[in-house]
Amino acid sequence: MHLSQTPAIESIYATILRRNPGEAEFHQAVREVLGSLGPVLAKRPEFAQAKIIERICEPERQLIFRVPWTDDSGEVHINRGFRMEFNSALGPYKGGLRFHPSVSLGIVKFLGFEQVFKNALTGMPIGGGKGGSDFDPKGRSDAEVMRFCQSFMTELYRHLGEYTDVPAGDIGVGGREIGYLFGQYKRITNRYESGVLTGKGLGWGGAQARTEATGYGTVLFTAEMLRHRGEDLEGRRVSVSGSGNVAIYAIEKAQQLGATVITCSDSTGYVLDEKGIDLDLLKQVKETERGRVSHYAERRGAHAAFVEGASVWAVPTDVALPCATQNELSETDAVALVRNGVKAVAEGANMPTTPEAFRVLEQAGIPFGPGKAANAGGVATSALEMQQNASRDSWTFAHTEERLVEIMKHIHDTCSETAERYGSPGNYVAGANIAGFELVAEAMVAQGLI
Ligand code: GLU
Repeated sequence: MHLSQTPAIESIYATILRRNPGEAEFHQAVREVLGSLGPVLAKRPEFAQAKIIERICEPERQLIFRVPWTDDSGEVHINRGFRMEFNSALGPYKGGLRFHPSVSLGIVKFLGFEQVFKNALTGMPIGGGKGGSDFDPKGRSDAEVMRFCQSFMTELYRHLGEYTDVPAGDIGVGGREIGYLFGQYKRITNRYESGVLTGKGLGWGGAQARTEATGYGTVLFTAEMLRHRGEDLEGRRVSVSGSGNVAIYAIEKAQQLGATVITCSDSTGYVLDEKGIDLDLLKQVKETERGRVSHYAERRGAHAAFVEGASVWAVPTDVALPCATQNELSETDAVALVRNGVKAVAEGANMPTTPEAFRVLEQAGIPFGPGKAANAGGVATSALEMQQNASRDSWTFAHTEERLVEIMKHIHDTCSETAERYGSPGNYVAGANIAGFELVAEAMVAQGLI
């Protein structure tokens, strides 16, 4: 399969494959971005001359470290910690930490790479990074999670700083983990450096609306895509996958905009709730009890069915919002969505749609919001948290949400106008890749060969 008509890009990609063996998700993410860049190189020879593509695909710094900890019975465990400091052309490295057994070098590299372009699209002064560990918080006590976080930060702290690298949450890292990580950073450095982590608690430097921002932003982006086609979310059936932070607040915003959200899921299966998800119950089961979506279905009674081990995308829907994890929406799923008349798809998770699935949606002319645009509301609001920390200020929920709405509209319009300018009108993937790349590339050229 050809990336583009540009042999130079093919050859760069071949080198990346050779130098990053076995990192399938990273290859996939790079291929998707590079596939959009042919027309940019044709117009902007200065980027090729400065070897910007080769440089942008090579992380500035890759950290891998041992994380030892003891469980409640005194048994010793050894996990692996990562931080990918990918690109600092636009600001300090910024991006979440993921705690999940699937975390590996390739996963963190793909996420860090995506983050570079996503963060650029927000228009905020943040570079791109990502980190995490193969630690599995599921089933662990608060004390175990705390000891793990303290051990993780005992190594990571030396690489962080509000002007250097600013982590946040991602899968498996929420308010509880950020609290333990911040506490340990503060203890080791003896500095109350609020802006070193985002996603903090509201009473100690956190920003209003940060928890909601990723899911809200995904729905706001979807609403913009629909608005450009003279449509809206009112009265629509919306399918959401996942049941973590992104999914929960995507459901909340979609409901606020008049949609009926009929699904959510976890790794065991999905819930179909034709009357619309009862968000209070879902929050209770997932956030308070840290339970499974099957428990939601049991408690919801006749309204909802739990379907074990099946794909949520087989359910007929108007709008699909994959908010679980990478590569969760396959070609078969995309064919089912199109056959059932889906009107828009937007990624709340990072790279949840496989390349084959994207091609099916593209050929069917379905508006598709890629994660680096559609889920950028989370990191954008993290940048607003950093702004508040720097000025020792704290804004209201309403003001912060207003900023989020403006930012999502700005991202939508940037992607849409860029796609148009480069001859791919309506193609948000091309628009996001090119616009993000141009912003970072221009800064890299200006800052010289570093
Ligand atoms: N993990 C989120 C993302 O994928 C948020 C990162 C942040 O707030 O720094 O963008």
